[in-house]
Amino acid sequence: MQKPPRQLKLSPATRAAQALHRIDERTGSISPAIDLSSTFTRDENYDPRQSYIYGRDGGPTVKHAEAVLADLEGGAASLLFASGMAAFVALLETLNSGDHVVAPQVMYHAGMTWIHRLTQKRGIEATFFDQTDPAALRNAVRSGQTRIVWVETPTNPNWDVIDIEAAASIAHDAGAILAVDCTAAPPSTMQALALGADIAFHSATKYLNGHSDITGGVLTTGKTDPLWEELTFIRTMQGSVMAGFEAWLLIRGLRTLYLRYERASTNALAIAAHFENHKAIEAVLYPGLPSHPGHDIAKRQMHGGFGGMLSILVKGGATRAQDVSRFTQVFMPATSLGGVESLIEHRKAVEGPHSIVADNLIRLSVGIEDVNDLIADLEQALERSE
Ligand SMILES: *Cc1c(COP(=O)(O)O)cnc(C)c1O
Repeated sequence: MQKPPRQLKLSPATRAAQALHRIDERTGSISPAIDLSSTFTRDENYDPRQSYIYGRDGGPTVKHAEAVLADLEGGAASLLFASGMAAFVALLETLNSGDHVVAPQVMYHAGMTWIHRLTQKRGIEATFFDQTDPAALRNAVRSGQTRIVWVETPTNPNWDVIDIEAAASIAHDAGAILAVDCTAAPPSTMQALALGADIAFHSATKYLNGHSDITGGVLTTGKTDPLWEELTFIRTMQGSVMAGFEAWLLIRGLRTLYLRYERASTNALAIAAHFENHKAIEAVLYPGLPSHPGHDIAKRQMHGGFGGMLSILVKGGATRAQDVSRFTQVFMPATSLGGVESLIEHRKAVEGPHSIVADNLIRLSVGIEDVNDLIADLEQALERSE
């Protein structure tokens, strides 16, 4: 008699590599199909054949990508959007006038721009707090009025680290939810929901996809509660769902997430260590360095590497920072992050004159190239900019 199969408990890296082992029933293909249909036929009882009715709710390929993301994030469900900002806007759309939102003083700048707009046009109140001051969040929340506490960790572009467990307890004490922008720390290294967050957010444009060829955003929830139902409704009404082809590319990218993030992390750590005490460098901001003020928290909540994002403050001010960003030959001068190719950016120039980011800050998104080429490239650019 044949024994029944013993069910293996697979690690997330395995589940990611196989995109949840969903072999296509129609063909047996290993690579998932791309379903692009905008509408779905009903059966002879006029019922939907599966759960699909219309493309604006998200089709099969979108649902597959969401299943992979919810699984890796340890969440109950995920919703994919056409961009990170579309996901962010949807979350803030759940606020009523008079509600209060708390967000970091230094955060993804377009997100801050949107919060300002809501305070001006929608009667939403907002407080921006200093993420580097542990008491600041407690002072920023208003019990009973704060609905959403938004944090970002590590925070672009200074890479400050926030303690998610502590933030969750402050948010919950005030009756608010905690939403975490985990863009720089994908689920291969950090799972915000397990640390107490209610919503994990990612710009899927970045590490999740990893190849700089789609824009996307995702929200993942710990439980499918009324807030989640409202978010699902908002996405359908706004039509901000990710398209099927993008979802397919995202699934493809997610299959190598663990490898990519691990390599980017070792590369970035080597670069950070190399330049930390360099004569042309004032400071290196990288949570993987023991000298970084957030290192201990980062070690506690990031288990698969500290990522490929770091910033360097060059000696010589804005001009030199911009020169270095122009002179690199391997690092490409472009915004965005989390791709397999390394990017360099003079952040102040991108954010504009109102930005509080240091003039001499260069943001690096370290990719998966040979780290010796990356270090040599920065060395030659620094030398040329002397
Ligand atoms: C890019 C980014 C976003 C916005 O995502 P888009 O996909 O560009 O809309 C939000 N937060 C962080 C930290 C990001 O890097």
